[in-house]
Amino acid sequence: MRKNIVAGNWKMNMTLQDGQALVSEIVNMVQDEVTGSEVEVVIAPPFPLLPVIGRMLPEGGRIHLGAQNCHQKESGAFTGEVSAKLLASVGTEYVILGHSERRQYFGEDDELLSQKLKAALAAGLRPIFCVGESLETREREETFAFIASQLKNGLFHLSNEEFERVVIAYEPIWAIGTGKTATSQQAQEVHAFIREQIARAYDAQAALNTTILYGGSANAQNARELFSQPDVDGGLIGGASLKSRDFTEIIKSF
Ligand code: PGA
Repeated sequence: MRKNIVAGNWKMNMTLQDGQALVSEIVNMVQDEVTGSEVEVVIAPPFPLLPVIGRMLPEGGRIHLGAQNCHQKESGAFTGEVSAKLLASVGTEYVILGHSERRQYFGEDDELLSQKLKAALAAGLRPIFCVGESLETREREETFAFIASQLKNGLFHLSNEEFERVVIAYEPIWAIGTGKTATSQQAQEVHAFIREQIARAYDAQAALNTTILYGGSANAQNARELFSQPDVDGGLIGGASLKSRDFTEIIKSF
């Protein structure tokens, strides 16, 4: 079902000590300050921190554990890789897949991402599947065609039941880590378009039920405006998820 989600993507930041300090602050602030509002929180630290941080999250609470990637195979001789099954076994509930940094720096394409999605779903994880155009694509006015192809080739091969478990994140590449946020209109326009594509590939109910997050320089100042858009159901937050006060302010923006 569609819900509001704020997910923090720590990327390759933090140490064990920094991560523990940050999470204990977030847990306290969320407990004290975020009452009542219907928002689920996901924290996605680097792999080695998952079990430690998972243990810090109050059981049955609103904060859930997420990973930033997984391998497409269930197990085997893949040195340095981490399976979805292992992630699930340490309490991970969400996994970010198809982040533009994975696509750009690690050559992850639609075909590979399709396999990763399948592996994540088979392990019982909820994928947060990222799409988003580059600045050149936007300037050529090919944003919609590009997003449509990322959805079609990467995501829409899933069955209805599988698709129900997926969260989508729209992250324009030009907005990631640049301080240049998409305007709420730009975000809304693409989110509405994504919902339309879901309705075509699946049905109107699936489109209504899908959570679609915005990511790219979202922060405590602009979150309220972004989240007020009818098709924006929350955020995937990079930089601002590394500061407890900022991240909590974003969570409170609904
Ligand atoms: P940012 O990153 O908030 O630092 O722009 C967002 C993301 O890459 O998920």
